[in-house]
Amino acid sequence: MVVLALVAFALNVWVPDSTAGDLLYVLVIVLTLVQPRRGFVLAAAGAVTVLEVLAMLQLAFQEENVGLLLTNHVLALVAIWIVAWLGTAHAGLESSLEQFRDQAQREAQQQEAALGHAQSQLEQAVADHHQVAQALQFSEGLYTSLVENLPVHVLRKDLQGRLTFASQSFCRLLGLNLSEVEGRTDHDLYPASLADKYRRDDLQVIESGEPFKTIEQHQRSDGSEMFVEVMKTAVRDVQGNLIGVQGIFWDVTDRERAEVELRSSEARMRAIFNSSMDAMIFVDQDGRMVELNRAAEVMFSCRRRDVQGAEFAEVFLSGDSRARLQDSLLRYAGAGELGSLIGRRLELTMMRRHGEEFYGEIALQPIPLQRGAGFAIFIRDVTERRRYEAALRQAKEVAEAASQAKSLFVANMSHEIRTPMNAIIGMTDLVLETLLNDTQRTYLGMVQESAESLLSIINDILDFSKIEAGKLDLECVDFDLAERLADALRSLSFRAASKNLELACHVDDNLPALVRGDPHRLRQIIVNLVGNAIKFTPQGEVVVEVQLAGEDADSVTLHFAVTDTGIGIPPEKLAMIFDPFEQVDSSTTRRYGGTGLGLSISKRLAEIHGGRLWVESAVGKGSTFHFTVRLARATTTAAPRASLPPHLLAAPVLIVDDNATNRRILEQTFLHWQMQPLQASSADEAWQLLLQRTPDELDVRLIVTDCNMPDVDGFMFAERVRAADSPFRSIPIVMLTSSDRPDNGARCASLGIAAHLLKPVKQSELLTTVVRALESSETSSTTTTLPVAAPPMASPRPLRILLAEDSLFNQQVAIGILAKHGHQLVVANDGQEAIDTIAAGEFDLALIDVQMPEVDGLEATALIRAAERVTGRHLPIVAMTAHAMKGDRERCLEAGMDDYVAKPIRAAELFAAIQRALATAR
Ligand code: ADP
Repeated sequence: MVVLALVAFALNVWVPDSTAGDLLYVLVIVLTLVQPRRGFVLAAAGAVTVLEVLAMLQLAFQEENVGLLLTNHVLALVAIWIVAWLGTAHAGLESSLEQFRDQAQREAQQQEAALGHAQSQLEQAVADHHQVAQALQFSEGLYTSLVENLPVHVLRKDLQGRLTFASQSFCRLLGLNLSEVEGRTDHDLYPASLADKYRRDDLQVIESGEPFKTIEQHQRSDGSEMFVEVMKTAVRDVQGNLIGVQGIFWDVTDRERAEVELRSSEARMRAIFNSSMDAMIFVDQDGRMVELNRAAEVMFSCRRRDVQGAEFAEVFLSGDSRARLQDSLLRYAGAGELGSLIGRRLELTMMRRHGEEFYGEIALQPIPLQRGAGFAIFIRDVTERRRYEAALRQAKEVAEAASQAKSLFVANMSHEIRTPMNAIIGMTDLVLETLLNDTQRTYLGMVQESAESLLSIINDILDFSKIEAGKLDLECVDFDLAERLADALRSLSFRAASKNLELACHVDDNLPALVRGDPHRLRQIIVNLVGNAIKFTPQGEVVVEVQLAGEDADSVTLHFAVTDTGIGIPPEKLAMIFDPFEQVDSSTTRRYGGTGLGLSISKRLAEIHGGRLWVESAVGKGSTFHFTVRLARATTTAAPRASLPPHLLAAPVLIVDDNATNRRILEQTFLHWQMQPLQASSADEAWQLLLQRTPDELDVRLIVTDCNMPDVDGFMFAERVRAADSPFRSIPIVMLTSSDRPDNGARCASLGIAAHLLKPVKQSELLTTVVRALESSETSSTTTTLPVAAPPMASPRPLRILLAEDSLFNQQVAIGILAKHGHQLVVANDGQEAIDTIAAGEFDLALIDVQMPEVDGLEATALIRAAERVTGRHLPIVAMTAHAMKGDRERCLEAGMDDYVAKPIRAAELFAAIQRALATAR
């Protein structure tokens, strides 16, 4: 284009008339239009214009046709600029179009991007929505499971009170399903009063917007009472507008009941605490007072607020007690030890607030708490009680002293009474043995009986006062229990027989033969119980049984039972009869005599022997008195008991007795000896039994028959057995009698009865008798009569006896008894006279009273024994004393006497003592 312009310029210069240059200029401009930039066109136009102007300037140097030429150039310029303007105008339009198109393109791209974005946003929104739906579903499930599984009932109502939701548990409670519940109001479901209340509560929530909580009482469908806790809250929509009420309620019956119980228990405790007459103080584990009641304030003269928090021991205890309590609390807190104070009741010296001391009975009870422990302290002011107790103690001591004085008095009186009683009984015995007419004998018999009963009363009273005064000493000797028991019962068998009562006794075979203890006291209990049994039994039997109740290395416990078939004792009197002077019948018209002391003495005696005494009884049926005693094992060994020779083992023995108990006891005895007992309850039955024996059975070897039987008695039965035509006449017979009648012996002899024994039978005696009877029947073909086995009254050979006795009456008694048996007596009136007489003469024996004027029996004996040490002799001395006390016997023996007999003197006892004394001296 520059070349073109320069060519055009050259043409204009060189050929000024041609328009070719101008046309070239136009061409140049047209060519520039190809360029998109408008500025380039205008620059070209400008450059061409410059060239044109230069051409025109050059024309000035030409004179021809200048005007025309200039006009050409101007026109050319106009044409150039028009072309340039058009060209630039076109280019502007084009670039605008371009720009517009670019813009449109850009916008379209932007729109597309926006669309893409919107689409991804939409996709995101869709994804979010899905997630939200899932979350909603999950949360709904959670909500339902929560609502349905929690032990609560849930419901929702709209503002009008219509149910919009109910949990299944609530539906169940109503007995409806959800569709039936929805839309209903409380008035459709509950009684008006309840529905009104619910509505009121709902409205309160609606009006206040605040939650509402309460506990309501309901009745279950079974009528039982229940409590529910209710919580109501407002329900709002998304905008926060109140649209209803939600109610949640749950059963709190148990809790409520427990709370009610707790509250009432607390109220009770507080009432007790406040109104207790004893002081109550609660302390913490450091001993600081937490709470105290009114009684404590009064007792310690303090106000609660002044002492709360202070240490109990510091404020209210003194000295030693304070330290003990503090120590106890510490030990409890440390090792949980109860120590000497905790959990016990004890009396301590305490202090009131103003310093006054008093005696308090205090009980300290630990209260384990969740953390640590506390203590409840109960205190009672026992100052007054202590004062009374001291007074009482003093009064008791005075009373005891009086009682002892009384006992002493009774003992002395008893001695004083015994002495004349000795004379009365002894003299009566003597007179009864002289020639008397019937009236005299009857009268004297009564005197004797009365004297005996007076003596037994005195004995009882004496024993009782000795026991009361704690002065009863027990003897301790070895003795044969079975023998002593049988002896004791023998003394009662006469009484039993006179009332036609069977008196039986059975001793357990397991008992040791010998035991160690006080046989007299044991006998006393037995005699008492059996005596009572006989006294209170009009008909039937009295049975004594002894069994082994226990044993150890040192002792045996025996159980005695005395059973009667008597009148019995009413239940309400059972306890009282053991009290002194108490009797079932205490009326003045009572049938039975007695002091009412026997049982209380027996009971005490059993207790002193480590046992007890008790009774079982039924009115009209009878009684059983039981007692136990613990006796030591004997220190000596018993002589071996006689036993059945071996060839008599298994021998059949026929027992004939109408009394079943007797039969049973005899059967056991024979079984124990390994014999073969057969039983018959009557003579007829026995006869039949004998007849029915078959040849292959062993012959009956012995008949043991009771004497007193109804219809056919023992003697009649013996007559039948001994009859000439009886096939059994060679069988030996042993007769058991209840009373030792004088003609028994003769009758037995005439009937060829081997022996007669007094019931209750001693086992040892029975065994000897049985053996002798069987053996003698074996040695002689004919029946022989054995001597009667009744106990002989031992009377030794005639003796020369010194009697030292100050009482004239008693001298007479002793002389009466002894002279009758051929003994020769020399009397000394006091101890000194006795010593002198013995020194002066020869004597076989001395009977010396213990209590005598001047020199008493003990002193006299000591002097006699002293003198004997020179001579080397030993005079048998028997003491006689009205002191029936235990120690007396020992004192007599210690003084050198050989034996002892208590007044009133009985012939049998005296002779027995004499024989023993002679035997010892020998
Ligand atoms: P006593 O026999 O001297 O009256 P006890 O102390 O021995 O005194 O007995 C007291 C009372 O117990 C008797 O009076 C009697 O009422 C009653 N009693 C004792 N033993 C028997 C018994 N075996 N049967 C019925 N009552 C009895």
